[in-house]
Amino acid sequence: MKGQMVLVLAAIAAVILALASDASARPKIVVLATGGTIAGAQTSTKEVGYKSGTFKVEDLIKAVPQITELADLTGEQIVNIGSQNMNNEVWLKLAKRVNATLKRDDVDGVVITHGTDTMEETAYFLNLVVKSDKPVVMVGSMRPATATSADGPANLYNAVAVAIHPEARGRGVLVVLNDEIHFAREIEKQNTTQLDTFKSPNRGRAGVANTGAVHFFNKPAALHTTASEFSVEGVDVLPRVEIIYSYANLGRDFIDCAVEKGTKGLVLAGVGDGNSTDPALAALGDAVKKGVVVVRSSRTGSGLVVRNVEIDDDKMDTVAAMELNPQKARVLLMLALMKTSSPKEIQDKFSKY
Ligand code: ASP
Repeated sequence: MKGQMVLVLAAIAAVILALASDASARPKIVVLATGGTIAGAQTSTKEVGYKSGTFKVEDLIKAVPQITELADLTGEQIVNIGSQNMNNEVWLKLAKRVNATLKRDDVDGVVITHGTDTMEETAYFLNLVVKSDKPVVMVGSMRPATATSADGPANLYNAVAVAIHPEARGRGVLVVLNDEIHFAREIEKQNTTQLDTFKSPNRGRAGVANTGAVHFFNKPAALHTTASEFSVEGVDVLPRVEIIYSYANLGRDFIDCAVEKGTKGLVLAGVGDGNSTDPALAALGDAVKKGVVVVRSSRTGSGLVVRNVEIDDDKMDTVAAMELNPQKARVLLMLALMKTSSPKEIQDKFSKY
């Protein structure tokens, strides 16, 4: 009888040990939550309305029980907002938290839940200031957590699968949604409501992730993370940069106003290849003379804006955004302005990043 007891206890101990060693073998992923539709709740399942940033990080993880088979997850709530309210202050807080988290030897990667509206901006910002090769994967959803056929749980599962994948290292910040993996620099939200809203129009997707099966197609095209010269260490405020949207009949008033209000940089969301009306171009030229750095981007949604095609950048001392859309050009210009206000040096950064 005594012998049997010993055997049973030994068996229990072996199971506990096996479980413990199994758990320690699983990658450790920290989920940093910021809100968005993935954490959103509908007021009524019959209506389209919902409020983003309702559920907490623990609820998001609990909604996908299978995820614990992939990794050991811990969650941290950074903010709980709709990403339309994302701002420089939260970016700095988030970036510092990502860096501190990835420095830990017991952390293998970070997954960030985020609203889709400004996902591409946050992703690109982090892509330039995170100082680690470990995977940083952003994820959101187009339907709120309470919707029929919510897309958040599958997206989160795939995001964790990407974050633990050995090939995810060194690819910069990645975004996972709708079974696709995108690079921070390439991704763009292109549809208001559809699940396949995210596209990478210039250089294509990084890969695909379906029910946790991950395939990478591509390498990032520009410098990022550990190769980037930008850092948020000791930074509390980013330089002010505004975006001016170009359209038929645009006058000079908003540009003059932005300069009067003390903006350090202006990004033109130009028509076509970064162009605008004569009065707007005259105002931008005056802004440059006052020391404001002007970057020409395009409102078209894809393609390059290169120097000296329709606009004489050499003469105007303006910067061409190359492949960056206006909202990402703003991100790079803010970071670049912390290093220099020389349009030539800033042009060089737009060619590199
Ligand atoms: N407005 C929401 C947000 O960006 C939309 C979404 O997450 O899809 O937070």
